[in-house]
Amino acid sequence: MPWRRIGTAVMDVLIGDGCAACGMPGPPLCDACAGGMPEVGPRGCARCGHPWATPRPSCPQCIAGIAHARQALRYDPPVPEVVRALKDSRRRLLAHPLAGLMAQHLDPPPRGAVLVPIPLAPQRHADRGFNQAALLADALGRTWGTPVSDCLERAPGAGTQRGSRATARHAQVQGAFMAPGEVPLDAVLVDDVVTTGATLTAAARALRRAGCARVGAVSLARVVLAGGRTRVG
Ligand SMILES: [Zn+2]
Ligand SMILES: [Zn+2]
Repeated sequence: MPWRRIGTAVMDVLIGDGCAACGMPGPPLCDACAGGMPEVGPRGCARCGHPWATPRPSCPQCIAGIAHARQALRYDPPVPEVVRALKDSRRRLLAHPLAGLMAQHLDPPPRGAVLVPIPLAPQRHADRGFNQAALLADALGRTWGTPVSDCLERAPGAGTQRGSRATARHAQVQGAFMAPGEVPLDAVLVDDVVTTGATLTAAARALRRAGCARVGAVSLARVVLAGGRTRVG
């Protein structure tokens, strides 16, 4: 490794990487970037928070099995980069300002609800050393005064079957979770990004099987498709 790169690596450890969005030296997310993150927009759908132009009780984008879902940010730049940085162990302090953004944009869950982070597959957890959803849940739990439970686990071997097709995401994550111990009656799943909602649906199914009566979800960001289809009320 050239000396210059060694020097850069040492400096990274000493001073951190600065803002995950703009690279400015200092905290993991600078005030300007934190204040300029793309918001989901008006909460058109009462059930899933999808930004339709006109309010409605539910919509085609609702997530199966999730009674109430909210997301703080739209998964548009620089959010993808910030989420990637959150999965980097050197930048795990990012969880605090990101949970702060969630608390700023989302209402706290009702009393009695318990936050349940979406677990990582064991191998991925071992490789990364931490679960970014659990970091968000812990920080949110402290801010909201809401308890956090690790009652959800990945089912052994789930999603690793030979021949499983990448296109069948719903089928792939179906049965991916289990809740072998006690589960809260009112659970609120915590995850970083909602794409199709298939992961949340599978997690909710495992919780309900174990006796949970109501499953909601809060996420840092949501993929909102561009174009009129998702914006026209
Ligand atoms: Zn910045
Ligand atoms: Zn909806």
